[in-house]
Amino acid sequence: MVLEQVPGQDAAMTFLRGAAERPHHAYVFAGPEGSGKSLAARAFAASLLCANGGCGECRDCRLALRDQHPNEFVVEPEGRDIHVDTVRDEVWHPAYLTAPEPGRKVFLIREADRLVPGRRRHAAEGLGGAAGRRRLPPAVGSGARAARRRSGAGATS
Ligand SMILES: [Zn+2]
Repeated sequence: MVLEQVPGQDAAMTFLRGAAERPHHAYVFAGPEGSGKSLAARAFAASLLCANGGCGECRDCRLALRDQHPNEFVVEPEGRDIHVDTVRDEVWHPAYLTAPEPGRKVFLIREADRLVPGRRRHAAEGLGGAAGRRRLPPAVGSGARAARRRSGAGATS
């Protein structure tokens, strides 16, 4: 299983295994550089997109682990910030459209602390609104700090 292949984050991976069975609309992955946030987020995305909960072998897993799954939308900073147009085009619009393939859509916002102030809530509401909820995303790892900053949804920071 893909979540078991993330090294040194046993507690966070235990949490994510449970979360993959009944996911909230958004999670914040926070921690120091090199702690495996991106690897964990990618593995979690695979576990959400795979019909077998993240087997690591199927097409869905292989594509998700390379950030190439058609139902996975990856948002990255352009320069210093993630701008409002990027949030609108890469989060809001696809959140309200039918997924390219049957199944869930997963949004991965890298370095969500670079969302232009005022847009963090906007991004989280875009995903929460699409899911019919408006709640602060649960934090993974040392994410309490990031959660208080309302960093966004499905995010690494
Ligand atoms: Zn799989």
